[in-house]
Amino acid sequence: MSLFADLAFALKARCPVCREGRLFKPWSVDPVDECSVCHARLGETDVGDGASVFLIFLLGATIVPLALVVDHFFSPPLWVHAVLWGSVMLGLIIVILPAVKSYIILLEYRHRPKR
Ligand SMILES: [Zn+2]
Repeated sequence: MSLFADLAFALKARCPVCREGRLFKPWSVDPVDECSVCHARLGETDVGDGASVFLIFLLGATIVPLALVVDHFFSPPLWVHAVLWGSVMLGLIIVILPAVKSYIILLEYRHRPKR
């Protein structure tokens, strides 16, 4: 599969084996113990902090310069920065974190040794 197809698939957060069952528990980014469709044991996956570290670097490298630019041109009070960038960061984390974690789990399933 191509990178873009994998990324599009990761946005759906589906089982990397059958590509149909749900990957995460409801309202969580913890993988389900077992796929409801193919019964793959998804609870065994361990992506560690990979997705979180990726987001820290990505959002830190994009949001901090944006905050500096906004502060330079508009000089809003500190509480505006806190509300604005806190909301932006929280929204991006809610959208991106499951996709990044799903992508890492997909790569783990694709490249791990066969048993
Ligand atoms: Zn499955």
